[in-house]
Amino acid sequence: MPPFQPDQQEDIASLVHPYTNLSTFRESGPTILTSGEGVYVTDSEGNRYLEGLAGLWCTALGYGNEELIETAKEQLSTLSFTHLFGGKSHEPAIELAEKLKQMAPCPVSKVFFTCSGSEANDSQVKLAWYYNNARGKPEKKKIISRVKAYHGVTIASASLTGLPNNHLDFDLPYGDRFLHTSCPHHYRFAEAGESELDFSARLAEDLDALINREGPDTIAAFIAEPVMGAGGVIVPPEGYFEVIQAVLAKYDILFIADEVITGFGRLGTMFGSEALGIEPDSISLAKALTSAYAPLGAVTVSEPVYEAMLDESEKIGTFGHGFTYGGHPMSAALGVKTLEIYERENIAGRVAKIAPKFQARLKALSDHPLVGEARGMGLIGGLELVADKATKQPFDPKQFVGAKAAALIQKEGLIIRPIGDTIGICPPLIITEDQIDELFDALHRGLDAAEEMVR
Ligand code: PLP
Repeated sequence: MPPFQPDQQEDIASLVHPYTNLSTFRESGPTILTSGEGVYVTDSEGNRYLEGLAGLWCTALGYGNEELIETAKEQLSTLSFTHLFGGKSHEPAIELAEKLKQMAPCPVSKVFFTCSGSEANDSQVKLAWYYNNARGKPEKKKIISRVKAYHGVTIASASLTGLPNNHLDFDLPYGDRFLHTSCPHHYRFAEAGESELDFSARLAEDLDALINREGPDTIAAFIAEPVMGAGGVIVPPEGYFEVIQAVLAKYDILFIADEVITGFGRLGTMFGSEALGIEPDSISLAKALTSAYAPLGAVTVSEPVYEAMLDESEKIGTFGHGFTYGGHPMSAALGVKTLEIYERENIAGRVAKIAPKFQARLKALSDHPLVGEARGMGLIGGLELVADKATKQPFDPKQFVGAKAAALIQKEGLIIRPIGDTIGICPPLIITEDQIDELFDALHRGLDAAEEMVR
């Protein structure tokens, strides 16, 4: 075992770390972060890192934002808590719901608050079921997601997620209401010589076939991230959402856009739906909604769904769903202030302006001997590391090349996230052009070190 510091030893002795190889962790130990400023964080040993994944795709405005800190303090000293159950309310929740209604890329009647992205997507599933019971279509309950999608980890959200590690030995997906259609990753799943447009058309045919196999009257909704994040940063092929939406429209299937990562400027538009030509019926939000200064998620509810919820309340006597901390006053106040800053600073416009540089430096890494594909959009990127560039042969997963590369990149002063053997990059939206250079210089050095390690 490495010579761990006392706080690291205590961590190993007392914490279960999410998304961590609990076995190798006992040897590698934790990186304990102690402070953050701008796009940088510092660990307990005094090492400073550029936070190249914005925490977990969430710290859009970086660390130490005084306006947000003041907002949190002010709200805590005015009204530290009230819930929204039974008609209780508070001003920040009202203001934030109103603001989201105006901004959302879909028709919104009301906004429902949660504490996380997983709870937002769980609520989407429950609302889709509730809606179809209310409108007398009790068979219309299945939700279609996609292979490699990431929608969270609660039982319904994890069932929507299309990644083996979220299913294996958790007995998921749960029941027979969660289906997964093909993954829109051209590099991995297109046939030899197949154009992006032809690949998209084939994926739409796959979806149509799945719907018909199951019976269109059994399908309630389709859920998709505009750009897949935690499944490996997968940008859809040309024309993809256009043909997918045409299929859904044929069968009266709702489109839920999971904007948990792509919401609030990440792709250079306020919402990912706008960048990808999606016209959703509802969106899920979290992460950048408060720039991660406090936990908060949200779901938009369309008028037809709200009408159905009203009918159910008349029948049952209440809308029986809600989280104690959903729309917490401090989180909601932070949400209001965060959105104010995004608008004032034109954050989406800023991303659109600096994204070409980010994408140019990202795509230049496709020449690196370890990189099979460099892909991305806006201020998000993925580098898929492969054993053989020519054949796209992946590494044996048991070699943990992605995790080892991430550790070497961290030694160069950059935090990124290994997703299997894909390196995810998603810096705070406030990153400057010089810091983009710093990020990619460190990444390059780390990849060179990883190349030496594996060859
Ligand atoms: N949806 C997407 C697209 C996500 O990326 C995530 C988290 O990474 C979630 C949902 C789940 O959010 P949370 O971790 O807040 O539950």
